[in-house]
Parts: sequence; structure tokens; C-alpha cells
Amino acid sequence: MFALTSLGGAGTVTGSKHLLTLDGHRILIDCGLFQGLKNLRELNWAPFPVDPRSIDAIVLTHAHLDHSGYLPKIVRDGFRGRIFSTDATREVAALILKDSGHIQEKDAEYANRKAYSKHRSALPLYGIRDAERAIEAFTAVPYHKPVSLPGGATLTFRHAGHILGAATAEIGWGGKNILFSGDLGRYGDPVMVDPEPVPEADYVVVESTYGNRSHNEADPVEQLGAVIENTVARGGTVVIPGFAVSRAQSLLYYIWALKQAGRLRDVPVYLDSPLAINASEFLCAHLDDHRLSPPLCKEVCSIATYVREVDDSKEVTANAYPKIVISASGMATGGRVLHHMKSFATDRKHTILFPAFRPPARATGPRRDRRSADALGPCRWRRDHALALRPPPPTATGFRRSWRTRCVGSPAHPHRPELGWNVAVPR
Ligand SMILES: [Zn+2]
Repeated sequence: MFALTSLGGAGTVTGSKHLLTLDGHRILIDCGLFQGLKNLRELNWAPFPVDPRSIDAIVLTHAHLDHSGYLPKIVRDGFRGRIFSTDATREVAALILKDSGHIQEKDAEYANRKAYSKHRSALPLYGIRDAERAIEAFTAVPYHKPVSLPGGATLTFRHAGHILGAATAEIGWGGKNILFSGDLGRYGDPVMVDPEPVPEADYVVVESTYGNRSHNEADPVEQLGAVIENTVARGGTVVIPGFAVSRAQSLLYYIWALKQAGRLRDVPVYLDSPLAINASEFLCAHLDDHRLSPPLCKEVCSIATYVREVDDSKEVTANAYPKIVISASGMATGGRVLHHMKSFATDRKHTILFPAFRPPARATGPRRDRRSADALGPCRWRRDHALALRPPPPTATGFRRSWRTRCVGSPAHPHRPELGWNVAVPR
């Protein structure tokens, strides 16, 4: 008999961890970091609910920190199995986890220097070495090819859109198929491929941060163009905290499309995040994961000036001319973007544009970022999880039961009552 326990990503939108148990074997699907407000971040320090040594394998749907960022900690605490992911996810996760280890170490160092930690000596949640040990535990798995997991389970990845390497994970175990959606991309995205249909499943675990809302149908290129042009017209700079992976590349594509249409001609674009720069290079190396042809991929990625060094980043901040600065991280909780926000949020002529969902600002963040974000209400692009909203194809035997693991807006909202699915929302 299966047991499915959500150890994160339920009732909140970060910290995704879903534990599947059968006959004494344990498989963890995703291993994310809690992010956002302090009370959420503190959950990362709580003892893990099960002994990490008792987990046989981890399946990673994609590399974003809220799905992967706890891996170095769980490995440090005794997990000794393999971490299964797609090849691109392994590469992107290696970047993200090392960067996260670096940020954790720097934050602890800063707390000790400023002596504001209530502990005598602040420790990082994990460090770069822990991230490297986690990366060594990865096993890359191709899309569409079922592979064996410990305990007799099989795993099949299919494209999920969303970001480079993202996959839905179908776990066959004990005669049942359980589908984990991970985060799903949009249909018809100009950069990423569509989420692939899955012919059949007994259970569907769908992440649905925006499951109770529909996408804003307004053209994102048009919206982005209008915000940038208005800001530039008043002599301001647009700072965009983009997730280093995927969203930063989508933004580059939108800006490329605007420039192709003869707009934003003289507005310089800076990609100020070493992580995002590396992710852009991966994009052109993994052509199956997106729609851009090799020459177009190169052209889109070269629309921006890449800012690798901290001194160059400071120069970008000091530069008074109107410009676009895309800088990690998307949750605005770390990285160089905080320095840009600190400088540019003090003057209303600038715009800080949040292109996606962001949890409430952490208390130590720039005080004005909330106001600036509110000013951009119509431009906060939404994602929802279209896979769950599309009925199974006619040849499928149908889903017997589905779960929604998270729907922050309205947990009780039924996805599509006409499908007759039995929906439960774990807390
Ligand atoms: Zn994601």
C-alpha cells in the first residue's frame, strides 16, 4: 500500500518534497528549499521528518531552488542514494546548488561579522563542499526512457516546459502509476517546449501555485515593452529580478523580439548574474529542451552585455543612463539584484519589475520593493498548470484520482469539476 506525504510545497509554494513509501522503501520526489519569509526559511533548519539514510532515491523534476535547494543538506545529513534527473537538470542544478552553497556561506560570514546572529557563531545551512557532494550523487536519465529505481519502481521523464531540463516524473510502482508534475510551463511559450501529455496515470500530483486562476492573456512582449518604454521616457532604469534559469532567458527573448520590431533601439541590456550567464550558455547546448534554433539561440543570448565581475556590476549601478538590468535572484532574496534594488528603488522614475510569482518580501529586503512591485500589478505574469487543466486524451483509460499539492490562492477551488476527478489538497 502506497503512502504519499508532502514534507513541503503544501500550504506554501516553496520547499517541495513529496515522500512516496511502499513496502519499506522510500522515494523522495523533489527536495526543495523553503524560501521567502523568515518563518518559512527557518523550516530548512528543522530536523528532517524521516531519517535521510532511510530514503532509497530522490527524483528531481527540475533545478529551481524551491525543488532542489535542500539536496546538499540531505546529503550532508546522511542520504546515500542516487538523485535521478534529466541531463540538463543535472547541469543546471550543479550551477544553482554551488551558487546556493556560496550564498549560504556568505550570509553566515556576514552575520558573524555584523554579530547579529542570536547564535554565538552563525553557521551556513550548507556550504559549497556539501553542494559538490550532492552533485556527485546525480544520475542523468534521458527523457521517455523508463529506468529502474530502488525497490522495484520505474521512472519515466517527459518534457514539462517551464525551465531547461524540467520534466514530469511518472513513477510506476506496485502496479500503479503516479505522475508528479513538478512545475509546468505554458503551452505556446515562445522559448520553452510545451508540457508533454501523459497517456495514463492512477494518481496525479500537481503543483498548482496558480491553480485557481487563469493566465493573463495579455501579450507579455507588449506589456514588457510598455513598462520599459515608459520608464526610459522618464529617464529611469528597469531592474528585473529574473530567475537565473529560464526566466532570464525568456526575458532576453522578449527584449530581442521588441528590438526586432524596432523598439528599445538604444536601450542597453545588462545580464548581471554569473549564474544566468552560464544558464544562457547551457540553453544553446540543450536544443531539445526549447524551440530556438542554434543561430537564434545565439542571437537572443547575445542581446545583453554579460556582467561577470562585481566591480562591473557596481559600474552598472552607478551608470545614470536609462537601461535594463536583469539580475538574479527571482525571489529577490540574494545576489546582486539586492544592490540594484537598493539603489534604484529610492527614485520613482525607476521601475523594479517582478515578472513572476514572488513570496512576500523578507524583512531584511529593501523597504520600497513592495511598493514598486505593486505599481506593476498588470505586469506580474502568471503561470498555471495547464497539464492538469487539459482532459486526458480519448484513448486514455482516465485518471482515477488526482491530488493538488498546492494552491495558495484558494485551496478548495476545484480544477475542472466536469472532469470528475477526485481532488485532495494535502496540508
Ligand atoms: Zn520551478
